[in-house]
Amino acid sequence: FLSGKRALVTGSTSGIGLAMARALKAEGAGLVLSGFGDPDEIAALQEELDAGFSGADLATAAGCEQLMEEAGDVDIIVNNAGMQFVSPVEEFPVEKWEKIIALNLGSAFHTARLGVPYMKKAGWGRIINTASAHSKAASPFKTAYVSAKHGLAGLTKTLALELAEFNITANCISPGYVWTPLVENQIPDTMKARGLTREEVINDVLLAGQPTKKFVQVEEVAAMALFLCRDEAQNINGANWSVDGGWTAK
Ligand code: NAD
Repeated sequence: FLSGKRALVTGSTSGIGLAMARALKAEGAGLVLSGFGDPDEIAALQEELDAGFSGADLATAAGCEQLMEEAGDVDIIVNNAGMQFVSPVEEFPVEKWEKIIALNLGSAFHTARLGVPYMKKAGWGRIINTASAHSKAASPFKTAYVSAKHGLAGLTKTLALELAEFNITANCISPGYVWTPLVENQIPDTMKARGLTREEVINDVLLAGQPTKKFVQVEEVAAMALFLCRDEAQNINGANWSVDGGWTAK
């Protein structure tokens, strides 16, 4: 149902973004991938998905501008690129704070700012932001991430109001813990910050808040993104959809 549409998925060389890209492609969308990674693996993904690619660093405004130039006209923008850093606030490196705010929040502002003119011209558009359960609730030691994701939810609502009359919707998807490199990589720092073993971090920190006691799968998040692209979803606007096993129901 997406043939003739072009989709940009930021941070799609891995994890949730890659699953979203695969789902969009399966419905016929043209694709632009983005992110970092091994050049051979990225070339293989481009071939698999017949996709364009931008390796721009989205933690800077200039990088976002480069991305949008390389992507060209896109009907669907999925702002998914993101990073995490776990540290007590008094030791939180300032450059990590600035980078996480710029990537997890700022890049979605820039892609909207640069991508909306085409969507308005086309008379149709979808902006889908991968937020997080941390856009609705906080956890200690994640000041930058929680702040950026709460901000992303606010940005999404603003875009929704501003663009509603142009047949462009903006929504957030907010996963709980999904088993991806982003989660795996935060385990060592969380062990250090909380003085726990790997198993304790997985069971007592990560899955403790997720009532299902299971990691969300990337395909489940992708399925939600796909639904938001459907015509039936044209009145779903400014919403923040949890896919978190019930975490934020508490
Ligand atoms: P991931 O680490 O597997 O993927 C992150 C992607 O972003 C990769 O493609 C990476 O190359 C790209 N990226 C990182 N820094 C970048 C930069 N400066 N410029 C451009 N691209 C960059 O992580 P993931 O778990 O798939 O996360 C995707 C999104 O989902 C993030 O926004 C994350 O905050 C969010 N999220 C993840 C979880 C989870 O449990 N994994 C939960 C809630 C929300």
